[in-house]
Amino acid sequence: MRKHLEVPEAYNEPVLTYAPGTAEREELRKVISQMRSTVADIPMIIGGSEIRTGNCAEIRPPHDTSHLLGHYHKGDKTHVEMAISAALDARREWAYMPWKQRASIFLRAASLVSGPYRQLINAASMLGQSKTVHQAEIDAACEFADFLRYNVQYMNEIYQMQPESHPNTWNRLEQRPLEGFIYALSPFNFTSIAANLAAAPALMGNVVVWKPSNTQIYSADVIMKIYREAGLPDGVINIIYVSGPEAADVVLSNRHLAGIHFTGSTGVFNSIWKTVGNNIGTYKNYPRVVGETGGKDFILAHSSANARQVATAMARGAFEYQGQKCSAASRAYLPESLWPEIRQIAVGQVGNFRMGGPEDFSNFITAVIDEKAFDKLTAYIEQAKNNPQVEIVCGGNYDKSKGYFIEPTILLSKDPCYITMQEELFGPVLTVYVYRDEEYDDILRLIDKTSIYGLTGAVFGRNRDAIRQATDILRYSAGNFYINDKPTGAVVGHQPFGGSRASGTNDKAGSALNLLRWVSPRTIKECFLPPENWVYPFLSEG
Ligand code: NAD
Repeated sequence: MRKHLEVPEAYNEPVLTYAPGTAEREELRKVISQMRSTVADIPMIIGGSEIRTGNCAEIRPPHDTSHLLGHYHKGDKTHVEMAISAALDARREWAYMPWKQRASIFLRAASLVSGPYRQLINAASMLGQSKTVHQAEIDAACEFADFLRYNVQYMNEIYQMQPESHPNTWNRLEQRPLEGFIYALSPFNFTSIAANLAAAPALMGNVVVWKPSNTQIYSADVIMKIYREAGLPDGVINIIYVSGPEAADVVLSNRHLAGIHFTGSTGVFNSIWKTVGNNIGTYKNYPRVVGETGGKDFILAHSSANARQVATAMARGAFEYQGQKCSAASRAYLPESLWPEIRQIAVGQVGNFRMGGPEDFSNFITAVIDEKAFDKLTAYIEQAKNNPQVEIVCGGNYDKSKGYFIEPTILLSKDPCYITMQEELFGPVLTVYVYRDEEYDDILRLIDKTSIYGLTGAVFGRNRDAIRQATDILRYSAGNFYINDKPTGAVVGHQPFGGSRASGTNDKAGSALNLLRWVSPRTIKECFLPPENWVYPFLSEG
């Protein structure tokens, strides 16, 4: 008999293959074709009501910009106010709902994600965010369900952490939801992260105003359908489609702001933190500020590494989902003794990638998210082409006539501090620096200093001293550090995710550490035999 857990034990949702002939492949194809043949009309959802303003923006697949998937209704400051009021109204009941009831709602949501809604959330992420079927499956279906199931287990573990009680007393720790509302502000690149930014605080008894990225609204709408179908009471999570700065104006000056759950770029997080600092006298409580932000993730190979393993980690780690993962490898440091072999294998692998829309399952690379990202990335590529210090090893071409397609590009820089070795590009561009084998120690110090970020990094090698040295010197260079593996693909329950420095507050999404930010403990001491006389024994004469 299992004594400890009072909830079903969490497990990772198995990743389906979508190989030819499988049922999931057929079902997904059907859902994609249904979604392509309808034009979605997406309202905001505030206090359980669907809000249509008539002020609509179009949603088009980034890989097929001539196709209209639907439109969403844009809101303004009045909708932000409405969402805050709806959340605070819902709080009265939700914050007192027994935790097992809350757990059931989110466990049911996990079953809906991995069951009846699986192909809908996958298709929405493929069409709206240009994810391949595999990238959609590991994110929108599996990681989403994993966040929900593991968080329920972590919540149970948190509630079980109780203080000692001496005879005739009972000391208890009550994990109160925060007093106010949480603002969840999510990025475009992971459906599961967006879903979790709203769900994690709600699971712990909080109410939420959620503003997703404009380029993720198509799948965000499916997330809301799942939460509602799972029985989440109206007003607990309210979704608004308002511009980031406009929403921030209202939210960050509200007295009841209790926390911010953010994932996105470092610049936006910095501006939010600054505003919170400026408004600090306004709030009833000090808001919890949790932000997972940018990265400049590295792969380092020691001369004892296996060239094929390094090249494969580069191909997958830098280019899956077009390099638009916060963990994507975007700088590689390779020893000159291995470089010719790694180069040959990597160029061969990347050359075999097929690029096109994700509806064709044989494509490995699809489009980047929008025109702004396309223009920014191609400007970096052009700059590299014009720099004599930089060689284009492969890729370098792009085309936005049908969608925002950029070839997976490997740059070779003679300058280890070239701009693309330092800045987060967030696209399919990997820059390589080749070092002399005997400079391994120097290269470790260089990696640590080159960028402001500290998110993910990987070291490859067979020599244990080299691995140990990298693990020590790069201690603060990555919050998720990989030995002989690519720096992407963290799994909930296995590799809690997050980094420090300019990569965020490192509250490790998908772990109890994150959930602890959404509660404020109250210690309750109850005395069963209270004293009835003020006199202590030492006061007696004798
Ligand atoms: P973003 O910073 O552009 O947007 C994030 C959210 O902030 C969106 O909802 C957006 O509408 C909003 N926003 C934008 N400008 C704003 C402003 N001035 N004021 C208030 N809100 C504003 O990020 P993105 O492009 O959607 O996502 C990519 C970024 O997210 C990358 O930097 C990536 O590294 C990071 N990311 C980090 C992690 C992590 O765990 N560390 C995970 C995923 C993504």
